[in-house]
Amino acid sequence: MCTFGIKLTDKRRYIFKNLDVHKVIFSYSLPIIDKNVLKFYIPGKNGIWTGINRKGLLIQTAEHTGNLISKCKINTWPIFERMLEHCNDTYSGLAFLMSRFKEAKMDLPGSILLSDRNTSIIAEYYPSVWGIKIIDDCDARAGIFGVLTSFNKKPKPDRAHLAVRLMSKIKDKNAVDSLKALCRKHNMKNSICRHKGPNTNGSIIMDISEKAAIIHYVLNSHPCKSEYKRIVFELY
Ligand SMILES: [Zn+2]
Repeated sequence: MCTFGIKLTDKRRYIFKNLDVHKVIFSYSLPIIDKNVLKFYIPGKNGIWTGINRKGLLIQTAEHTGNLISKCKINTWPIFERMLEHCNDTYSGLAFLMSRFKEAKMDLPGSILLSDRNTSIIAEYYPSVWGIKIIDDCDARAGIFGVLTSFNKKPKPDRAHLAVRLMSKIKDKNAVDSLKALCRKHNMKNSICRHKGPNTNGSIIMDISEKAAIIHYVLNSHPCKSEYKRIVFELY
């Protein structure tokens, strides 16, 4: 189960995601830019697991694969990719995902972060019920729902709570360095870098202004043991 989060300031949006898999079963590709979308994908797999388009609409996702055995096993990644190619803002993106998930009879629960220049939301689905939270400061998810609490009767403090606590202190100055430290953080109970347990084998931080998204990434390595690379994606 991956961890993702968002921090909003007056000037910028900051997003992070750590990629957790139980063993190294994927190799993550370098980002590519195609059809005005910056995409992260996995060679040999269809679709993307994160991305941003020129309008500044982005998606980060985490599926709750451990909670429910999927019967239909639909691949959500092509749906995410199409959304970034066809939608310009958070709400049209959400409507696109809802309709495609319904058509596909989606039966995996999960959380999605959608963010454009004006509106950032966390959307939770379980499997056909949606819960939406509008973000005005910061929030994070790491497997436990925050809106659809009826499906999580006893949400326990987890690494997403720790991430929110750390993000609430972040200012524009040094925000990216603070987020790198967050993604690398080891903690007795709720490590955000989980390279010793479920394998954290990649990490992305997006620093988004009106004009550009600066994306820092570590792929196929642990964020706590690697330097982040950097790519600039212009917005218009
Ligand atoms: Zn680590």
